[in-house]
Amino acid sequence: MPKRLSVQAYVDGVLAGNRMVLSRAITLVESRLASDRELAAQVLEACAAHSGKSYRLGITGVPGVGKSTFIDAFGMYLIGQGKKVAVLAVDPSSQRTRGSILGDKTRMAQLSRAEEAFIRPSPAGRTLGGVTRTTRETILLCEAAGYDFIIVETVGVGQSEIAVHSMVDFFLLLMLAGAGDELQGIKKGIVEMAHGLVINKADGENEAAASRARGEYKRALHLLAAAESGWQVPVLTCSALEQRGMAEVAEMLTAFQAHHQPDGWWARNRQAQALQWMQDAIRFELEDRFQRDEGVRAARPGLATEVEAGRLPPTIAAQRLIRLYLQGADEKSAED
Ligand code: GDP
Repeated sequence: MPKRLSVQAYVDGVLAGNRMVLSRAITLVESRLASDRELAAQVLEACAAHSGKSYRLGITGVPGVGKSTFIDAFGMYLIGQGKKVAVLAVDPSSQRTRGSILGDKTRMAQLSRAEEAFIRPSPAGRTLGGVTRTTRETILLCEAAGYDFIIVETVGVGQSEIAVHSMVDFFLLLMLAGAGDELQGIKKGIVEMAHGLVINKADGENEAAASRARGEYKRALHLLAAAESGWQVPVLTCSALEQRGMAEVAEMLTAFQAHHQPDGWWARNRQAQALQWMQDAIRFELEDRFQRDEGVRAARPGLATEVEAGRLPPTIAAQRLIRLYLQGADEKSAED
């Protein structure tokens, strides 16, 4: 049984911005133990009233594009502006290193030493390109702890971008200047989800290519219909390594907010995301209960064999398992 604090101790620690307690609160929220979940729900409820005030920023891009270098540089820029920055990071090697904090320390060397920053690697084994079941809860806790910017990083594996897009205010796509046909490499769907494009590694010999790529992306984006809101997706260049272009990225985020707060989009987007969150939470909870149900676990292998052999239609097998689960749930509630 892991050591736990009292609800009050978690809440007080988080609200005081204590990073150690914040870490422990996130671990609590990530736990699947029934007793932890009850405690976690109380902590989240108490913290919810203090959340919602941050700028939620999603960052995606292929491995090697410079995400960690960029987050390190941009995070330090924000800190220089008096902000506090939380990074919910995914170490692509975390499957191997078990989400080691050391991995992220070397990836974001400056930020990991900064008092005003909090870096949280994804828990290993339960990630979808780094997006976990509990990323939204983690955002909420970080907001309650007073972080002004919450950066959610994801690696480009398709599904995870969609998940991150559904939990942030601004979705930033980090790119590289290719050799020649720049537009080949972009997954169209992802470009369409982005609120801004930033071409990284615009330094040294690559600077001219980056600037050319910028022009090409701009023209290409112009051909895509502008968002209903009238926001024209900006294309910027930067050098995360040389820490150049950070002010322009920050200005882009400010301009986006200035564009979307008055027209109501900002609030509507968050409302829609909150509903989606509720929807996902229901799905996770039901699925979790179903998977743990003893009756389901006992019957499942036999039914799976029948399905594999083609003797039982998958739908019928699923219905039987669900019936078993519902019976189990009924019996449990009768006992209560
Ligand atoms: P990630 O996999 O997207 O997180 O990429 P990293 O941040 O680990 O960067 C991959 C490699 O690109 C590293 O060797 C970085 O030093 C290098 N890199 C990152 N940003 C820049 C940049 O702005 N300019 C140059 N020249 N190299 C960069």
